[in-house]
Amino acid sequence: MLNKLILVINCGSSSLKFSVINPIKKKILLSGLAENFYDNSSLIVWNFNKKKNKIKFNNKITHKFILNYLVDEILKKYLLLYNNIIGVGHRIVHGGEKFTNSILITDIVLKAIEKASVFAPLHNPIQVIGIKEIKKILPHLKSKQIAVFDTAFHQTIPIESYLYALPIKFYEKYKIRRYGAHGTSHKYVTKKAAKFLNIKLNNFNCISCHLGNGSSITAINNGKSVDTSMGLTPLEGLVMGTRCGNIDPAIIFYMFNELNLSIDKIYNILTKKSGMLGLTNITSDFRYIEENYFKNNNIKIATDVFVHSLTKYIASYSILMQNKIHAIIFTGGIGENSILIREKTIKKLKILNFFIDKKLNNKIKYGKIGLISTNLSRPILVIPTNEELMISQDTFKIIHNMK
Ligand code: AMP
Repeated sequence: MLNKLILVINCGSSSLKFSVINPIKKKILLSGLAENFYDNSSLIVWNFNKKKNKIKFNNKITHKFILNYLVDEILKKYLLLYNNIIGVGHRIVHGGEKFTNSILITDIVLKAIEKASVFAPLHNPIQVIGIKEIKKILPHLKSKQIAVFDTAFHQTIPIESYLYALPIKFYEKYKIRRYGAHGTSHKYVTKKAAKFLNIKLNNFNCISCHLGNGSSITAINNGKSVDTSMGLTPLEGLVMGTRCGNIDPAIIFYMFNELNLSIDKIYNILTKKSGMLGLTNITSDFRYIEENYFKNNNIKIATDVFVHSLTKYIASYSILMQNKIHAIIFTGGIGENSILIREKTIKKLKILNFFIDKKLNNKIKYGKIGLISTNLSRPILVIPTNEELMISQDTFKIIHNMK
């Protein structure tokens, strides 16, 4: 079984996550992260055989450097892993309108990923670098690279949900529309939830709440995404860690015209200084937020705003699906762990027949899967996400079918 391992690469804007996974046994054999690329505190950590390794670098590092380090200094030292890797799965943030599924990376696919960079300028160009570098440093796997898109799962969304009410040429000519994100996570937890509840995926309707540093919520009808909160980019939708989510677009013109803020500065405020960090003026970390909810008024108000935005989406999505939802799913760092957020949100959904079981809610965190609803309620599930496993499974499937 060892000779069926997949290397998963996830290039972030200033970080790189990697793992070696056995997709059949659903086992992560090696996993690691390199971060803080562009300052002098860059480092790489990885876990193998229950041992944690950490190397600090005294200089600024790049994605190319880390990929070479990964192959030469890590993978080649664990030859049993290295020799059994049969493919590489890349997480790609934006696939534009072209990709509805994971796909083998050919020259044409690579060009399309490059083209979609306009919608994910911090991610796609770096992910293209990752694909090209792997081609060089793992030449025997150069035609075994698979792209797994964050946007692909949402390509089933109907036109009335993905069109913005702008002059139509902005869609027709420039492809400005809702694309969504976190698709791999929403798809993974939906499959898991359907299995947990013993409902066929094709018949399964749910609302999936991926709540992490970036948060998004998706309406899933018959196993397919029919609406999602993130838009052209991951800035739209729910209140997030440092992103503002939905705001009146006129605020941007007010900031520009009346407050004399530059476009770059405004972008920085909306993406890095807003959300929970902006509202609390302290932190975006929900561990701290949860501990201080009753002690600090700014934290209380910020949390209430977060819950309000989440509740509004859940309520509107359940109406979109004629209230025929089998379950609500919580996932992501906050969804999997924040007892407070789950309780406060569900308390507002009694009218939709969702009731939280406090005891179960208190128990389910730190990677546990399970129900947090009472017997009278429709199911509310906590499902730890595993985007890496999903990427490895998609990669394995495509490579397996190539034979
Ligand atoms: P993610 O982006 O999915 O890694 O999620 C990150 C978010 O999850 C951060 O806001 C963390 O504070 C939050 N988080 C992680 N662990 C916990 C926990 N035990 N309780 C509450 N929030 C948590």
